[in-house]
This record gives sequence, C-alpha cells and structure tokens, in this order.
Amino acid sequence: MADTSDPFSAGSVARQLDYCTFCPKMCRHACPVSTASGRETYIPQVKMDSMNQLRLGHRSWSADTTDPLWACTGCRHCTVYCDHANEPGLVLLAGRAAAVSHGQPHPALTGYSERFRAREQRLTAQLAEMFPESLATEGDVGFMPGCDAIDKGSADIAATLAVLERTGNEDVKLVEMPQACAGYPLLAAGHRDLFRWHAGRVAKSLRGFRKVAINCSACLYAMREQYPAEGIGMRTEIVALADILAPAAANLACSLQRKSVYYHDPCYHARYNGVVDSPRRALAQLAEVRELAWNKADTECCGGGGLLPKTMPAVADQMAKRRLAEVHASGGGIVVTSCATCSFMLKRNAPPTVEVTDLATAMATLSETPFTAPTDPDAADD
Ligand code: SF4
Ligand code: SF4
Repeated sequence: MADTSDPFSAGSVARQLDYCTFCPKMCRHACPVSTASGRETYIPQVKMDSMNQLRLGHRSWSADTTDPLWACTGCRHCTVYCDHANEPGLVLLAGRAAAVSHGQPHPALTGYSERFRAREQRLTAQLAEMFPESLATEGDVGFMPGCDAIDKGSADIAATLAVLERTGNEDVKLVEMPQACAGYPLLAAGHRDLFRWHAGRVAKSLRGFRKVAINCSACLYAMREQYPAEGIGMRTEIVALADILAPAAANLACSLQRKSVYYHDPCYHARYNGVVDSPRRALAQLAEVRELAWNKADTECCGGGGLLPKTMPAVADQMAKRRLAEVHASGGGIVVTSCATCSFMLKRNAPPTVEVTDLATAMATLSETPFTAPTDPDAADD
C-alpha cells in the first residue's frame, strides 16, 4: 500500500510514480480525460510515467514533455480502481508546481497569478454590486458562493438567499471579503507559494464567522485538506452549501405533483469531501431523485476541475457532454448538481432535452420560492 498520508511528500510522490510506471494500466478505463480525448498519452499510467521520466532526469522540461501533467481534473476516479490507493490527481498537481518552477507553465496559463488577482478584484466588486444588502463581515453562519458562482451563477446566489430566508435562516449572510475564490485554481496552475499566501488571507477574512458554507467542491477540498497541509490554521468550520440547505429543505413545501430529477455528484464532493447524502436529502424533500449510472464515489467528472476548461477546453466540454448523454438518451430531464463549477460546465454543454440546475435554484423552483436573479455581466476571459 502506498503512503498517501501526504501525497506531496517527496517519498510518497516517488513511490507512487514508480508503482504507476510499472502498472499494467489497471485504472485506464476510469480516466474521463483520456476517454473524452481518445488519447493514450492521457491515461493515468502514462501521465504518471511521463512525470517519472521528468523526475528522474530522463527527459528535459519542455512544453511537450510537461503537456500530460495538465491533462487531469484531479477527479480521483483512478484512485478508486487502484489497489495501491495511488493519487495521480494529487501527484500530477505536484508535477505542475515543478513544471512552473522549471519555467514551463501551461501556455494557456501564462501570467496566471496576475490574471487570478485581477479576477478576484473584478468578482468581489461584482458581488458587492449585485447583493449590497446581503453582505456581512461577521456572523454565526456565512455563505461564500465561490468565484464561478459570482461570475456565471448570480441567479443561484439569489436563489440560495431566498431559500435560506424562506426557511428561517435569514441570518446567513454573504461573506464580505476581498477574495472571491478560496484558491484551488492557484494549486491547479502550479502556483503553490501563491496558494499558501492566498489561503492565509482567506482564513483571516473568514474569522468573523463560526461556520462558512461554500458552493465550490474543489475549494471546499482545498480549504479542508490543503490549507492545513500548508500550515494555514482555520478558526472557521467550512462546510458545503448542501450541508446547510439539507436541513432547511424540511421547511419547504412542494407541490403534490413531484417531479423527477437526476443528481450529478461533483467529483470533489463525492471522492474528497464526503458530500454525498446532504444534496440528495435536500432534493428528496421536493422531488423524486434519480441516479445516474455513474454516481456517488463512482461519479464521472464534468470536466470543470484542474483548470481543464482553460488548458484543454474542447476536452473539458466533451467530458460534460458525455456526462449528460445518458439523460438525453433516456428522453431528457432535469439534472441537479451542487457545485458552481459543475453547474456552469454542464449548463453550457447540455443538449436541448436536458435542463441543468444548481441545487439552491432547484429547491427554489420546486418549492415555488420566488427570487430575483441579478443580470450576469458579460463573461470575461480571465
Ligand atoms: S493509479 Fe494505480 S491502477 Fe492507476 S496506473 Fe497508477 S498504480 Fe496503476
Ligand atoms: S484524477 Fe481523474 S482526470 Fe486525473 S488521472 Fe485520475 S481519473 Fe484521470
């Protein structure tokens, strides 16, 4: 069994890379990036072998040799099928940091730290403009929507606030802070030092709250697992938004004609955060919940993780299309998910027969809770 207590430690990384290099590709079927792209170079075993050759000095660091390191969403599906519990998703993140330190960031991520900072400024201003009455710097429970929700899902933020108000949770306020994102994209871009710096600032911004709910599965993982790994202590408990919506759902009434909805498990929720039951409990109060063929710990990634929409946008979109193909083939329907990034990726790739909606918006719609969606500004390419 590999030592996975710290997949970034040098010994653990080397051991996992050696195991994968000589593996008969036992997890090849599980990788959505290789399946969607149809490229053998993107199966987990080959990606890990490529990184091993770089580590051992058998290859030089170049755009070509580091390309496989970026062909991963960190979805952890390969780990489910690995007898050694190896973590290609996390080890390849370490490889990205090494690539950046060798002057080889992904070409699509050039100047990423500056772009990230500019996006933070744009999105925090946008949130303040859209929800000026709902912000607070302290309280018992706060709500941090996450950058993709502010950027592309302001209706979902409005729906969340409406559902919370209707269920007697009007004290839950949007967290007013100079950061829009908890920093997972910095990790995925290979900027570990900047991630550590950013994490410290986020932890400080959240100190006024006992508990904060976030609607981004990857940033929930980053805050729970990677902040402590980087020595960042959190005074605030961090939970998934679904964890506070589930108990609230019991106070929502739904029409007698219950609709059927499919639930898509975000991979970071299902395989890192243990957020599997709470979204289903929330939905089950209001609808019949149907399961996709790949669900819970065996869920398939929508393509939104690991900055894949920036580094390999066509492959990322193809992954989202694959995820919804089953619903389309069954005649269509409603797909609900509980992560702003998944919502965005699935919505933009949904066929006309499939309606994709975020959990809070689904709850508001199914319970006929009115909410007013602010206008989403035009998306910026940052
Ligand atoms: S993660 Fe496990 S199953 Fe997959 S290539 Fe590595 S050793 Fe083999
Ligand atoms: S973590 Fe997911 S995307 Fe990355 S290699 Fe494993 S299965 Fe593929």
